[in-house]
Amino acid sequence: MTKKKRSVKEKTPADDLDRILAGLQAPEETIRAKAVSQICPCRMGWEGYQQAMEVVAALQKDPSPLVRGAARHVVLESFQMVSSGLPTSPRTQHNEMAARKRRFRWGDNDR
Ligand SMILES: [Zn+2]
Repeated sequence: MTKKKRSVKEKTPADDLDRILAGLQAPEETIRAKAVSQICPCRMGWEGYQQAMEVVAALQKDPSPLVRGAARHVVLESFQMVSSGLPTSPRTQHNEMAARKRRFRWGDNDR
């Protein structure tokens, strides 16, 4: 039997996250909006998203509608991922991914 190494890296390195977080505090609304949209869990995965989650929540009240819109998109998408069964804890993610694929086959009985 072979042992598997647990060395799965997240998509977004901490470096990038730092830059994005800095962008969120930029005075220009376009830079903030762009930074927010990069926080989307579909781009950086749950781990990165969770680190920036509070900031995204705060930016839903940003004075700029551009930034609010982007923040809202990210929050909505994260809700969709949660409600489709993706766990919020990265530790269980791999097992859950497999389980989710299975669930997918059963899951077409909505009324
Ligand atoms: Zn997205």
